[in-house]
Amino acid sequence: MPVSHDPGMTTLLKPGDAGYDDARRIHNGMIDKHPAVIARCTSTADVVDAVRLGREAGGEVAVRGGGHNVAGKAVTEGGVMIDLAPMRDIIVDPATRTVRAQPGVTWAEFNDAAAAHGLATTGGQVSSTGIAGLTLGGGFGWLMGKHGLAIDNLVSADVVTAAGDVLTASDTGNEDLFWAIRGGGGNFGIATSLEFRVHPLDTVLGGILAHPLAAGAGVIDAFRRFTADAPDDLGIACGLVHAPDGSGNKIIALPLCHAGDDPQRAGADIKALRDFGPPVLDAVEVMPYPVVNTLLDGGFPKGALNYWKSAFLTDLSDDVIATVLDAYAQVPSPMSAIIIEHLHGQATRVAPTATAYPWRGTGYSVLVIAQWADPADTQTNVAWAQALMQQLRPHLSERRYMNYMSADDAGFVREAYGPNYHRLVELKRRYDPTNMFRLNQNIDPKD
Ligand SMILES: Cc1cc2nc3c(=O)[nH]c(=O)nc-3n(C[C@H](O)[C@H](O)[C@H](O)COP(=O)(O)OP(=O)(O)OC[C@H]3O[C@@H](n4cnc5c(N)ncnc54)[C@H](O)[C@@H]3O)c2cc1C
Repeated sequence: MPVSHDPGMTTLLKPGDAGYDDARRIHNGMIDKHPAVIARCTSTADVVDAVRLGREAGGEVAVRGGGHNVAGKAVTEGGVMIDLAPMRDIIVDPATRTVRAQPGVTWAEFNDAAAAHGLATTGGQVSSTGIAGLTLGGGFGWLMGKHGLAIDNLVSADVVTAAGDVLTASDTGNEDLFWAIRGGGGNFGIATSLEFRVHPLDTVLGGILAHPLAAGAGVIDAFRRFTADAPDDLGIACGLVHAPDGSGNKIIALPLCHAGDDPQRAGADIKALRDFGPPVLDAVEVMPYPVVNTLLDGGFPKGALNYWKSAFLTDLSDDVIATVLDAYAQVPSPMSAIIIEHLHGQATRVAPTATAYPWRGTGYSVLVIAQWADPADTQTNVAWAQALMQQLRPHLSERRYMNYMSADDAGFVREAYGPNYHRLVELKRRYDPTNMFRLNQNIDPKD
């Protein structure tokens, strides 16, 4: 049975308790860890309590928001797991165009609450992802060309530090901490409330255009030419995937979201893409913004086995195109995908040192998603992703996006923080000198 931790009200789950197994499971089915205790928090006071418990226990402390981190950092083997999933309050303030949300909230919940007031901000493209982990790592989303990354819309956050202090971080208070959490992930404390700037937006022109894989080189070339001067209003990616109809056909999908005010202008902006060859699917139409963020959900079932590899490309060359097409022709699992994301617009107009997240250049990121269902297929699928990354190596920059890093990517942590690493180490020494929050893409205070 769950027990209460005196003097607070945090529910503590131990192995064998009802709800323990549900609480320790996260999105990636590869992660099967057993915390000694799971502290299920419903308030900032609970989190303060749980941090004290973690400090006193002295072992590993894990922090779970939405549970989507593929590296599995949200759960610990044998340590204390601080579970924020029950913290789901959302307050929309249409007058100040802000939304304050707790860290257990998913993007589906956030988008729906904001949309009820005709408001929206940059958030994850799969609606079950948590707002907290995604934002603290940077936050790519359909609106990043128009409104910047998720961190660029973060106005303030309440943070419980390793010492158990509750600090409000913003541009006008605890500014260093505010800088650090905008890209530094969970290294500096636990965000118990996140306040976002939101923008007027009702509907978007969004959906998916798809072509057969056989037309792949031409389609990716068209994507490359099209994105060279994509308008800020447009978010677009290019994915090598299997058709969602179960036919087993491989396709090149172009999921997109145009957030401009004028539907005619939006139609004109994507005409060149629509005019490229006969698509096997043209499901682009006017839809509410929350809907465009659910279109990819079916491709990411909870509990599937995941192994991801990712890096920013130096260029989207013909060689890269040939390499990904060849790799996808041999992909061992129909659940796997190769996604090329395009970064431009507002997200790229922020100085690299203005936030802890540094990679503000225009260009492309490649995300290799190996995903499968049967544990017996693990080796084959992991090997496929690793071999593809090896082949792409001449075209990969040193830059990494920490939110996409796998459990075996710890060696790339400096590449994730780039020119900001040194300042982050100094701030880590100030806010978490004993490195209690180390189960993340870790900034070591001893560096
Ligand atoms: C299907 C899928 C789709 C995705 N789509 C996108 C996308 O569109 N854009 C994008 O940028 N990324 C995307 N990601 C990556 C995503 O941003 C990361 O996995 C992120 O870590 C998820 O956050 P979470 O809260 O759900 O995860 P969790 O696993 O709960 O948290 C990850 C880590 O973040 C830290 N953390 C979480 N909450 C807090 C908190 N309140 N305070 C302090 N630290 C905290 C902790 O270190 C934790 O271990 C996607 C991932 C998946 C699996």
